[in-house]
Amino acid sequence: MAYSVTLIRGDGIGPEVAKATQTVVDATGVKIDWAIEDAGVDVMETYGTPLPDRVLESVRKTKVAIKGPITTPIGSGFRSVNVAIRKELDLYANLRPAKSMQGVRSKFSDVDLVIVRENTEDLYSGIEFQAGTEDAEKARKFMEELSGKSIREGSAIGIKPISEFCSRRTVKFAFDYARENGRKKVTAVHKANIMKFTDGLFLESARDVAKSYPEIEFEDRIVDNMCMQLMQKPELYDVLVLPNLYGDIVSDLTSGMIGGLGVAPGGNYGDGIAVFEAIHGSAPKYAGQNKVNPTALILSGVLMLKYLGEPEAAMRVQKAVEAVIAEGKYVTYDLAPAGASSVGTQEMADAIASKVAA
Ligand code: NAD
Repeated sequence: MAYSVTLIRGDGIGPEVAKATQTVVDATGVKIDWAIEDAGVDVMETYGTPLPDRVLESVRKTKVAIKGPITTPIGSGFRSVNVAIRKELDLYANLRPAKSMQGVRSKFSDVDLVIVRENTEDLYSGIEFQAGTEDAEKARKFMEELSGKSIREGSAIGIKPISEFCSRRTVKFAFDYARENGRKKVTAVHKANIMKFTDGLFLESARDVAKSYPEIEFEDRIVDNMCMQLMQKPELYDVLVLPNLYGDIVSDLTSGMIGGLGVAPGGNYGDGIAVFEAIHGSAPKYAGQNKVNPTALILSGVLMLKYLGEPEAAMRVQKAVEAVIAEGKYVTYDLAPAGASSVGTQEMADAIASKVAA
């Protein structure tokens, strides 16, 4: 029986990396019925929104999607489609593995970290008041009254909600992932020394959830110290679980450690539903050039195949990607060894696909 999967092609370089990923996943022989949906700036004129209802309807039906990146136009009034998809489908845990690969240039080697980021709340909840507006002034005065602390007049105000419910389910996801994947340790990352109630609640929830996983070591680190430690001794860490904002930043840091956004995959998981996507954005300057690296979305496809219950096919794709990159012959410009020629997005995908099918 074929699996139904929604393929959201995205915009910018999205359609190119989406097609490359489809090529490789299809080469595994796992039967997939692709429901192709478009979202992003390219559909705004037709649908009046970058996220037409039909896209979410399709994912609600198939329960599994893989998506290309989508541009967030600055100052257009549209919030991020990516954030909207995660919130609408309650995809609360964002998984971002960062594993070194031979042949990818990086200052680090042998990095093997897994980032689990809370995906639905924190400073990303979208409750902000613009400086100079009546609402900002009202919010400022209200906060001053409640807290007894002063906020400078004319300030913009943002709200950082952190709940026990969302913290617990994300930390639980991190521990379940650790258990299922033979990982030894989970580190909760926070700034609870300063944000005692918000990050404090995240940490408290993490400590409590950890008690149900006695075989997995648990510890916590303050986020600034964590960044320094990752630069100095990444081998001491394994699975990291973080609130939304720190997770966003630290996962870019760990992507940098394995050679950049071009090779960093991701998956967003809810209860019985998941959307897989690369960490990188839509890189508009490269759109339509068949130039960018498709690895990140292809490796997101590996996460998807595992989620579908096809670990053998997932492993074949993973090994094919590693082999093609290590050989360095059919790789995009950013991966080509110094002085060597490079190939386009689709040609790299074709090289991976032929190893997958072999
Ligand atoms: P970006 O990831 O698009 O680009 C950052 C840098 O990485 C650029 O130099 C780009 O050329 C390079 N890069 C990105 N992907 C690459 C790839 N596959 N191969 C080789 N090089 C690659 O980030 P940005 O410029 O900050 O954002 C562009 C747009 O994408 C923005 O509108 C942003 O909101 C959006 N965005 C979307 C997502 C998503 O869809 N999940 C994530 C991040 C950013």
